[in-house]
Amino acid sequence: MRPDVVFFDLDDTLVDETGLMADCVRRVAQQMQDVYPFLPPELVVETYLRASLDLWRRVTPAQAGVTIPLMRRWTWEDTLRRLRVDGPVEPFLERYTALRDGQVRPFPDARPVLEELRRRGYRTGVISNGETALQRWKLDRTGLSELLDPVVTSQEVGRSKPDPEVFFEAARRAGADPHRCWMVGDLPHADVAGAVAAGMTAVWVRRRPPDSPPQGPRPHHTVDGLSGLLELLP
Ligand SMILES: [Mg+2]
Repeated sequence: MRPDVVFFDLDDTLVDETGLMADCVRRVAQQMQDVYPFLPPELVVETYLRASLDLWRRVTPAQAGVTIPLMRRWTWEDTLRRLRVDGPVEPFLERYTALRDGQVRPFPDARPVLEELRRRGYRTGVISNGETALQRWKLDRTGLSELLDPVVTSQEVGRSKPDPEVFFEAARRAGADPHRCWMVGDLPHADVAGAVAAGMTAVWVRRRPPDSPPQGPRPHHTVDGLSGLLELLP
């Protein structure tokens, strides 16, 4: 069935959050080589990305008092714990924040695909587990805001993907039946599972090969990049 609305996750679906994060963590680890010469930067990157993914499974800015700066601190603390580094977290956190703040990196296929879907008559929106102000800033900074409406975040709904309530709220704001909405996202346990639970058609965008086969409900479609949507949505 032709959908009325195509919703997108933001981080690692429209913008390259992991690529940017990895680059910033790598530079921090390189800068820290004088203090920790036996800490390979690539190992720090790998450990940080894993710690971040594990944290986001348990905690999001939908929870009271949780902010991105706090989540970054927890991720660095966990990273150093996993690497058995005894030193203080501050030098890592401060360097990382200085490098990371004020940056966003859209995927090259994001704008052309959104523009083409709109040209074909689809509405396009966002369902994100992120912090409202930060996600809106990313959309403004990349110029993607004008192509996405509504933009729904877990922080404003007070619940996080995969909770179907977040998806129902997005459909309601778009004035559409959830069964006539598609959801495109990179995380099987949040985007695919939540969309399926809400009765939406789930598209898994496999930006990077997963470490292990995804658990939970199967997506209706799988694409390796957003351009694959243009074949699914004539
Ligand atoms: Mg994502």
